[in-house]
Amino acid sequence: MQALMMDMPLTITSIMQHADNNHPDAEIVSITADNPQHCYRYGDAFARIRRLANALHRYGIKPGERIGTLAWNDYRHFELYYAISGIGAITHTINPRLFPEQLCYIINHAEDRIVFVDILVLPLLEKLRAALKSLEFIVVLCDDKHLPETTLDNIQSYESFIAGESDAFDWPALDEGAASSLCYTSGTTGHPKGVLYSHRSTVLHAMTSLAPDVLGLSAWDVAMPVVPMFHVNAWGLPYAAPITGSKMVFPGPKMGDGEALQRLIEAEAISVSAGVPTVWLALLDYLARSGKALAALQRVIVGGSACPLSIITEFREKYGVSVHHGWGMTEMSPIGAVNTLLPGMEKLSPDELDKIRMKQGRAPYGIEMKLVDDEGRQLAHDGKQCGMLKVRGPWVCRAYYNLDEEDHAHDEAGWFSTGDIGNIDAKGYLQLTDRAKDVIKSGGEWISSIDLENAAVGHPQVAEAAVIGVPHPKWVERPLLIIVKNENEEISKEALLKWLEDKVAKWWLPDDVVFVDAIPHTATGKILKTELREQFKDYCLPDV
Ligand code: AMP
Repeated sequence: MQALMMDMPLTITSIMQHADNNHPDAEIVSITADNPQHCYRYGDAFARIRRLANALHRYGIKPGERIGTLAWNDYRHFELYYAISGIGAITHTINPRLFPEQLCYIINHAEDRIVFVDILVLPLLEKLRAALKSLEFIVVLCDDKHLPETTLDNIQSYESFIAGESDAFDWPALDEGAASSLCYTSGTTGHPKGVLYSHRSTVLHAMTSLAPDVLGLSAWDVAMPVVPMFHVNAWGLPYAAPITGSKMVFPGPKMGDGEALQRLIEAEAISVSAGVPTVWLALLDYLARSGKALAALQRVIVGGSACPLSIITEFREKYGVSVHHGWGMTEMSPIGAVNTLLPGMEKLSPDELDKIRMKQGRAPYGIEMKLVDDEGRQLAHDGKQCGMLKVRGPWVCRAYYNLDEEDHAHDEAGWFSTGDIGNIDAKGYLQLTDRAKDVIKSGGEWISSIDLENAAVGHPQVAEAAVIGVPHPKWVERPLLIIVKNENEEISKEALLKWLEDKVAKWWLPDDVVFVDAIPHTATGKILKTELREQFKDYCLPDV
């Protein structure tokens, strides 16, 4: 028997309409290249979004068309999110930090006709222009006064693009399964692959993220996504906040700037923020040097890469901020797990609690996880057995955009292979130990590069650490620890190995330590292990 409940499609438009009706006065504050302090309210944003929707119609954008954005986190990017998806087109967020060849591939593959670009990214677009086959028109995120001199044709400022448009717009009824947004993964090998989100997946992901044990947003919160809007929709915050009416703060091009982040946190009374470990290291470094505090900040969600314990403890002990480790992927919209403690854990010792806090967290409702071994056999969730992590759920990618059948993302049973390796304990906490391609296989056993890196980075003189496997005649592979020291500080190989001695199993201790000036990163801030392996491909361990 069919139920008798209403069948309302879950669309991004419905989030906007809800926020417009219920939270028109909540504020949105942004730093942009043309304004260091832009402030307006949700109601103002939605009026401009309707003007933008009219402008996109006037330009002839059809449902299903991809519209590119090359932009930082700010109010105009927020407007693009809602106007593009709301008219049935697809918000294609592009990471300006990718290599030029990847950017050209992505824009050509998505066949973007229009790209909305930040002033600061315009010089990059000038360089790429000749290779962008589908591109017809460029809109620069500023007003006419700030439109830079450029060699590009068919270009207009955002403000003049929407000027003169009506702020009334009749939003079309959309199928909740229709594509709303597109984000390419920036793998270290092969071409980037497009993950095509739907209205439904975006809404379900946003609603789940609001749960207290996930991001726990409320109307009382002031939320600042430091994770970029070009990387998995800023972890869904621009969709989650309007559901509850949280004030939003967008740091624009200042995402990696500790001083600017501290200033925003203080001035705007930010209570919750989210970002990758690197930005928090920059903030903590600035706080230590300046002696400043973090006023209203209550919690920070850290993900994208393993969060070192030092970030968790420093935030808590010095600034009273609780850190929640989270895990996800572009293919998962991105939330896969978030770490919050469970009842009864308050009795655990500080060390035991830290061990739990370091884990990547528990799956929210909607995400199923399983671990399998090399033969595909399912492993127990006992916190010990490590295997390949597979997931499924309504906001997990089923197939990549416009790729052949064999590139489909899931197996016959509908599980997506994450490429991550880890264990899950009896309470459901996931602990990642590696990317499948980064794990070090020593004498047939796995050594976790993540655990070694986390332990090394906890040393006060270490700024960054990476571990790769290097060939060994007896053990096949052994770990090599690569270290960037803090500026003007000294530390020896022996002191580092001593530091690690009581933190990891003895046979995990790296066979050598090398000091470098910098460690290469991907465009999303992860350590670029492929490049490190290339750099150290002729490296010979001391005892070999
Ligand atoms: P991306 O699709 O670029 O967001 O990258 C997703 C990948 O980042 C995951 O498959 C993991 O390998 C890694 N990752 C994300 N969050 C974490 C975390 N908390 N700890 C360790 N690795 C993580």
